[in-house]
Amino acid sequence: MASRHRRAPACRACGQPVIFALTESGARQPLDPDPNPKGNVLAFQDALGAWRVRSLASVEPASRHPLEKPYMPHFATCKGPAQQELPANVTPIRRNR
Ligand SMILES: [Zn+2]
Repeated sequence: MASRHRRAPACRACGQPVIFALTESGARQPLDPDPNPKGNVLAFQDALGAWRVRSLASVEPASRHPLEKPYMPHFATCKGPAQQELPANVTPIRRNR
């Protein structure tokens, strides 16, 4: 574990710990909690402790935030069955496979 997570949230589908990070459009995207060099998003924790995430493909290498590391969206690794059946009030996040 790279860091301790206070009250770490867990995925409702599979029970694995996840980070809920805010996308640039303000949605919450679950990420696997540890950096992953194969991940296709960049995430970091801002000064207020909120996780921020954006697509790796949208970021010029020169404009990367110094604290940003690649992370894997949890939907790419989730083993739970419930991810197929999101409640009607939840906007599904496109899976990048
Ligand atoms: Zn899961």
